[in-house]
Amino acid sequence: MDCIFCKIVDGKIPSKKIIEDERAIAIADIQPQAKKHFLVIPKKHVASLADAFSDDGAGRELVSDLFSLADRLAKQEGLLPGGFRSVINTHADSGQTVFHLHLHVLGGERLKGTFG
Ligand code: 5GP
Ligand code: ZN
Repeated sequence: MDCIFCKIVDGKIPSKKIIEDERAIAIADIQPQAKKHFLVIPKKHVASLADAFSDDGAGRELVSDLFSLADRLAKQEGLLPGGFRSVINTHADSGQTVFHLHLHVLGGERLKGTFG
């Protein structure tokens, strides 16, 4: 399968992993939308949040894993206690462009607006 995030997870495309655990990695977004912008990516390929909950019922655990690593990431990278925004885009209407589930973590500054 030709999936850019699978290639990053597998190390076929080199990237700097900011933090990693058994089930997910975090990398810096190449087009940051805030002073700090990370992507938390599950090691297992799942196309979207919707797929995570329809494939095999593993969605709850997977989403929990992503937020767990995001919390550690936020502490390590100094996004806490100031705060951060976490976003998951699901399917085309949301603007999802990479169809391997990922959690955006944005912060490092006072973010403007709430959506978009
Ligand atoms: P989406 O719009 O699917 O929620 O977000 C995809 C994100 O992945 C975008 O913010 C985009 O900048 C980022 N992205 C796409 N390709 C790469 C890549 O090869 N490396 C990194 N680090 N980020 C990427
Ligand atoms: Zn993938």
